Amino acid sequence: MSTSKRILVTGGAGFLGSHLCDRLVGQGHDVICVDNFFTSQKVNIAHLLSKPNFEFIRHDVTHPLWLEVDEIYNAACPAAPGHYQYNPIKTMKTSVLGAINMLGMAKRCRAKILQFSTSEVYGDPTEHPQKETYRGNVNPIGPRACYDEGKRAAETLFFDYHRSNKVNIRVVRIFNTYGPRMHPYDGRVVSNFIRQALRGEDITIYGDGSQSRSFCFVSDLIEVINRMMNGPDDFVGPVNIGNPTEFTMLELAQQVIELSGSRSRIVHKPLPADDPLQRQPDISLARKHLGWEPTVPLREGLKKTIDWFKSIDLSQYRAPTPNY
Ligand code: NAD
Ligand code: UDP
Repeated sequence: MSTSKRILVTGGAGFLGSHLCDRLVGQGHDVICVDNFFTSQKVNIAHLLSKPNFEFIRHDVTHPLWLEVDEIYNAACPAAPGHYQYNPIKTMKTSVLGAINMLGMAKRCRAKILQFSTSEVYGDPTEHPQKETYRGNVNPIGPRACYDEGKRAAETLFFDYHRSNKVNIRVVRIFNTYGPRMHPYDGRVVSNFIRQALRGEDITIYGDGSQSRSFCFVSDLIEVINRMMNGPDDFVGPVNIGNPTEFTMLELAQQVIELSGSRSRIVHKPLPADDPLQRQPDISLARKHLGWEPTVPLREGLKKTIDWFKSIDLSQYRAPTPNY
């Protein structure tokens, strides 16, 4: 009997989505990638288009979609602050209506569905490191709320479809992830610093650079997302996934400068509103239930990401929004 499944990946042309499609196509599944290319470009999936088990549909998940599938990975949503704040109402619609449409499909098809949630559900956390039991500190009316509250509402919908309609769900809370195929103009810290360092431009640290993040390399993240989907049905999450090793933005800037051999200077710019001061996942649950541990240290992941940035032609990339 074939173990190949029909798998839908929404946001499948994006940074994480395209790596996930690579993996699922490599595993021999029949993969349908849905994306509206808001924050991604065709180049991320160009190498997959000729594969017999890969199919692309240009579609916006805020509108209903009728497909027959066995599994759904719901990753469609702008993820970088500059992208999701560009059209905040659309961001909220993508999270909420996108979740409703995909959960409806999962219910109809009896498909398993995994939600790409985020550490942003914890807001600017007062508990450190963050455990899944922490309920968060989100400003519901601030500039990050469209994303944070949209993702929180999506989690609510997942758990209500699970309880009310027995939909087989999984929810992962992803912490900052980086690697090849990040949009070079997404305004996120890793892409900004590397792009600036390679061009010899000033490295822009927002605030004094003492705020922290914990950065996970993309291959580690795709591994655990795939494990979560295929894990036991009684472990639905939410589960934190990310690399618990924490760095300040100043440390990150120094590493990028050193690894890229750049002569860029560090400059400071104002800290954006509601910018979380610290973020570090407690990954005990992922360790226990999925036997997972990140394996790529920041230095190694940064080298690979810098090499990728060196290999691309920046003029081929269009900035999705002016915020970078
Ligand atoms: P990304 O912007 O590269 O990917 C998102 C994809 O979704 C893009 O291809 C975009 O075009 C698509 N999209 C956006 N709105 C859509 C819509 N209405 N209909 C169809 N497609 C739409 O970002 P990413 O980093 O790959 O993030 C993927 C998912 O992971 C997102 O849901 C994000 O919230 C989540 N996440 C990412 C991180 C991270 O550090 N990368 C952290 C936490 C959560
Ligand atoms: N940041 C920075 N310089 C930049 C871009 C971002 O100092 O050019 C900071 C930002 O203020 C935040 C951290 O880097 O404190 C991570 O920002 P990012 O947008 O990557 O993701 P976030 O974790 O805030 O969603």
